[in-house]
Amino acid sequence: MTQMTGTPAVPASTGARTATVGVLALQGDVAEHLRAVESAGATAIPVRHPAELDAVGGLIIPGGESTTIWKLAAIFGMTGPLRERIAGGMPVFGSCAGLIMLAARLVDRASDQETFGVIDMTVRRNAFGRQGESFESDIEIAGIAGGAAGPPFRAVFIRAPWVEEIGPGVQALATEPRTGRIVAVRQGPALATAFHPELTDDNRLHSIFVDMLRDT
Ligand code: GLN
Repeated sequence: MTQMTGTPAVPASTGARTATVGVLALQGDVAEHLRAVESAGATAIPVRHPAELDAVGGLIIPGGESTTIWKLAAIFGMTGPLRERIAGGMPVFGSCAGLIMLAARLVDRASDQETFGVIDMTVRRNAFGRQGESFESDIEIAGIAGGAAGPPFRAVFIRAPWVEEIGPGVQALATEPRTGRIVAVRQGPALATAFHPELTDDNRLHSIFVDMLRDT
């Protein structure tokens, strides 16, 4: 095809990359994240294969079971491409199992468990107890619309981890009131929550993530 003179060559994927949020769709609450992203005004697609990862500007790693998601990612040939995009600064948002998968260090990790290590934090898996000890709590989250003056965020904790320690480059966005433990963090293009914002109708955290993609 003849290139028109004076027209800059723009890669066809550029628009899609900035507008579309992927949800890693190997296991866990994928549909809920897809719905929450759409309600925050962006396009969301499930991501299972490297070509789908190429088409998105940012990725959500959902709640589920971190060891299972990692094993499936390996089977689908996704761990290498995911490591590469995440290391390259792609905006990424992990909830619960997703937070675990973004951590640099785990306490009580499964023997062969690996993580992407993009957030300089130490995470304790299942820190709040087992499935039966799941709970909801109203928490304040720094930087969400309305700030401290806005309504609190209804946070759903299911076999949730907590963040035991953060490095100097990590911002603690929220603590769980009963324990005082850190349950939401951000380090540059990486956002993570120990709870499940996708299981409520409150899309303020998904909106922050969509804005992070638009700013990239
Ligand atoms: N405890 C789970 C894990 O280790 C996470 C639980 C969740 O995502 N609700 O992956």
